[in-house]
Amino acid sequence: MTGIASIESRRAAEDDRFLKDESKMGGGYADTVFFPENEAEISAVLKWCAEKKLKATVAGGGTGITGAAVPFGGVVISMEKFNNIIGLGFKNGRFFLKVQAAVTLSKIAETLRMKETSKFKELTENALRSFEDSPDTWCYPVDPTEMSAQIGGTAATNASGAATYRFGPTRNWIKSLVVTLPDGNVQKIERGKCFADASGEFDFAGKRFKRCAYEMPDCKNAAGLYSKQGMDIIDLFIGSEGILGVISELEIWLEKKTPSLSVVQFFPSDSDAFSFVKKLKKSALSPDFIEFIGESGLDLIDSRIKSGCMTLDIPEFRENQRSAVFFDISMDKNAAGSLEKEASGLIEHPEDSWCAWENSETERIKAFRHAVPESVNATIAEIRKNYPKVHKLGTDFAVADDKFDELAAFYRETLKKSGLKHAVFGHIGNNHLHINMLPADYDELEKAKEIYALMAKKALELKGTVSAEHGIGKLKHKYLEMMFGEEGINEMRRVKKVFDPDMLLNNGNMFQ
Ligand SMILES: Cc1cc2nc3c(=O)[nH]c(=O)nc-3n(C[C@H](O)[C@H](O)[C@H](O)COP(=O)(O)OP(=O)(O)OC[C@H]3O[C@@H](n4cnc5c(N)ncnc54)[C@H](O)[C@@H]3O)c2cc1C
Repeated sequence: MTGIASIESRRAAEDDRFLKDESKMGGGYADTVFFPENEAEISAVLKWCAEKKLKATVAGGGTGITGAAVPFGGVVISMEKFNNIIGLGFKNGRFFLKVQAAVTLSKIAETLRMKETSKFKELTENALRSFEDSPDTWCYPVDPTEMSAQIGGTAATNASGAATYRFGPTRNWIKSLVVTLPDGNVQKIERGKCFADASGEFDFAGKRFKRCAYEMPDCKNAAGLYSKQGMDIIDLFIGSEGILGVISELEIWLEKKTPSLSVVQFFPSDSDAFSFVKKLKKSALSPDFIEFIGESGLDLIDSRIKSGCMTLDIPEFRENQRSAVFFDISMDKNAAGSLEKEASGLIEHPEDSWCAWENSETERIKAFRHAVPESVNATIAEIRKNYPKVHKLGTDFAVADDKFDELAAFYRETLKKSGLKHAVFGHIGNNHLHINMLPADYDELEKAKEIYALMAKKALELKGTVSAEHGIGKLKHKYLEMMFGEEGINEMRRVKKVFDPDMLLNNGNMFQ
């Protein structure tokens, strides 16, 4: 067995990088940070923690916004030495990449863009030849915005982003995982090999246990341990926020990159934009994503531009351009003619469209799309000069297609009644809007918290989720309990204890 003393470590107090994440949740502390470089070393750290009853928190890229990577005692296991792209394979007509967990999304994107195959250690000869000889390029299509996130972190959180509309979340792109369980046992988990039987039982890694006795909501979701009739064991680990094991290696599917046309379509009101989205979803255009900036979001950008707080290289909004829908359409050259016909039938006011094909122009549109979250953060920073404890409240709720209108109407009425400053934007293709409330002082902060809870209740009444992409971490326990009830949380705790009887690994994520 690898001795714990031979594993590189540092006192956690020497590097506060490991005591926080992008949630800015305070109070994190730990004794030691370990830097294992292979599974034997991860296993040794976990066995040592189990023996000493010490908590262990896994540190990925630290880009999470729910405090999931913030430790409260014990040790931190930094994944940073697992940073190699190992190889490339080809199966059933698809390429896949074999990567270590700490490889960032930006490194994956750059490696694929440049076809840097000389760095791969493991290669299937045929795969390499077709990859290098092909005039096409490939990409990993899951795009959770923050490219410094590690691929292991994105698997642990089942991250998703705008392109989830067409490609689905991280879960859909994982072929296999290598996971070290809390007892130190290392498992390669290949999709398609181990399923829950008819009574919901798994036979996995020498353990027999039942899946959680609930089903996941029928919408985009990142809340709670995954559970579904006949589910694959790999899906229990994906999105488990690291509470069941440490992911060290992954095989991820790739997708052919096709050039795309970016479109921004403006509308006089949010309800006009919503009607258009319904038509777009039913059309043959099959966009990669459908994103939205509502009236409140465009107003916020407009006021920041007019007051000189922000510059943005975009056309000036006209009177009737109050709400915007963004979508990208992959353009297969052969299909360009029929797509153009479909688009012209769909878009009633081409004078309110802004389309881009070339790189610099698509970058302008991207900057516009990201201008709302940036404006929200800048506005809150201003407010905090007088009220340091004020923060934004941003929802992450989603529902199924047939429930969206009711949720959107509830958002609109509730926000109007509250009088709170807000900005609405997000992944409308997945019925997943981020309602950002911007409290001006402490009274408004309390009011915003109440409204957030009311909106969560409404999303749940409509059989949706309290977190479609960011997860629960340490900040949203209350909402996970609203969603699954005490019974559901007990089910998650039961499954956690199958692997981790003393609840040491990533303690405090999802539940206590
Ligand atoms: C500006 C910004 C925009 C964002 N946009 C999106 C978005 O659009 N969609 C989205 O889904 N998220 C988004 N995020 C959140 C974040 O990028 C994702 O949650 C990401 O998946 C976290 O990856 P990470 O490597 O940084 O993980 P960390 O933050 O380090 O960790 C997250 C959780 O995963 C666990 N973990 C990390 N690595 C491993 C591992 N190897 N094995 C086991 N457990 C592990 C950690 O313990 C922790 O519980 C955004 C964040 C920022 C800052």
